[in-house]
Formats: sequence, C-alpha cells, structure tokens
Amino acid sequence: MSFNNVSAIGFDLFNTLIFADPETLPEAMGLLIGTLRSNGLHFDEPSFKKAYRSSALQCIEKTRQDGKETHNRFWISEALGLMGQDVAPEDPRIAATVDAYFSAFYDHCHLIPGTEEMLTKLKRTYRMGLLSNFTHGPAGWEIIDRLGLRPFFEVVLISGDLGYRKPHPMVFERLVDGLGVSTDRIAFVGDDPEPDILGAARAGLKPVLTTYVRDQKLPLVPGFAGHGSQDPDPSIPRVSNWDEFLLLLGME
Ligand SMILES: [Mg+2]
Repeated sequence: MSFNNVSAIGFDLFNTLIFADPETLPEAMGLLIGTLRSNGLHFDEPSFKKAYRSSALQCIEKTRQDGKETHNRFWISEALGLMGQDVAPEDPRIAATVDAYFSAFYDHCHLIPGTEEMLTKLKRTYRMGLLSNFTHGPAGWEIIDRLGLRPFFEVVLISGDLGYRKPHPMVFERLVDGLGVSTDRIAFVGDDPEPDILGAARAGLKPVLTTYVRDQKLPLVPGFAGHGSQDPDPSIPRVSNWDEFLLLLGME
C-alpha cells in the first residue's frame, strides 16, 4: 500500500493518541455509585455493579449490530431498573451521575509519548482529523481540550455526538467531508481492528494499525467496546511508534 498520494490523516483517540491510567475505571465507577447515592438512590453495591455491567454489555452488543452509539444514561437507568428503582434515562440525577463518572478521566488521560511532536510535524503537510468512539460527547471534548489536541485538527468527531460509531460508514463519511479530500488520499490510524482498520478500509481510506499501547503493555481503556481480538490482515501496515509512522509516510 502506497502512502505517496496521502494528503490527509484521520486518527482514532484512545490507545492511539492517548492512554488512560489503570485506576480510571474503578475511580469512575466509585464516582458513579457515590453520585447516585448522594441523589437519594440506594442499592446494594455488588448487585448494582453486576446489573450495570450486564446492561452495558447488552447495549454494546446492540451497538455492534446496528452501529448506533449508545449512552451511559441508558446503562445506568436500566441497571437501576434491575434494582427495582425506576429512574428514566433523562432524569437529571442520571445526567449528574454520567458527568461524575467521566470526570475521573480528566486527570487520568495522557498523550502517548511523542504525539505532540508527531502532530506538529505532520500539520505542516497534512490536513488532520480526529474520530473517536466515545459515548459521552462533552467528556470527549473536555479530554481533547485538556490535552491540547484540538488545534491540530481540521475536524474533530465524537461518536456520542454523531449518534453512530466506528466502524459505521456514516462516521467515516463525516470525517472525509471534514477533511475535504478524496478517500484514497486519506490515511486512518487506529489501534482497534474492527472499528478502526476494517471501518477505514471499507470506507475506502488507507488504514494503519498502531500497536504502541499493546506493545508497551499500557492499560487499555475498556468499557466502550472492548478491544477487538482478531488481528487485521497482515497486509495492513502497522506501526509501534510515531517514528515508524513518519517513515511510512516518507517523512523521515
Ligand atoms: Mg482506540
């Protein structure tokens, strides 16, 4: 696969440009439960956690089938329902709980080493876009802004805002529109075989698998869709650091 004609690059966010500390999810869950309780909702904690996990998995499985993004407010509402507490997904107590959950991410997300330098270098030559599978748009934006990523990108897309998530073709179409060049001139870099690699390839983009987080054994951020187990076709270019990516683009 040649990258000579590439003039724009799309990036996945989590485990591609950034990673999260291992304590992120336990801390987020603690904030979720604490906020429900401080809003007067009482339940047995282990049973709630079990119910939450099962409703999240159900929603994620449905998403896998129809490509539509789900939102944590449904997972929480359903889990409470299983605990015998009827609270609608639109209830403000649930909105407050979702915000509390994601606030755990704000100080626990970090750029992968060399990312800022790589983006600075590429920005001189390429149009760039960010396309993230993240259920809660406002939290996604907060993370992107806190890490100073926004100025690098012509277009930033978060599945929670779009209503669909990768690998659905609609989100790649939006990326292509935002980048303003034809699909065969766009590379897409991601770590997850199905959403990123298969999704980009089906949309006519040139996929690149990044294995940095996997190779460095950094914690994956689960809870959104899990990590694809099947490895992509060996013909798909893969990079384990940004120097290799620059080399692939012919920049080093
Ligand atoms: Mg990812």
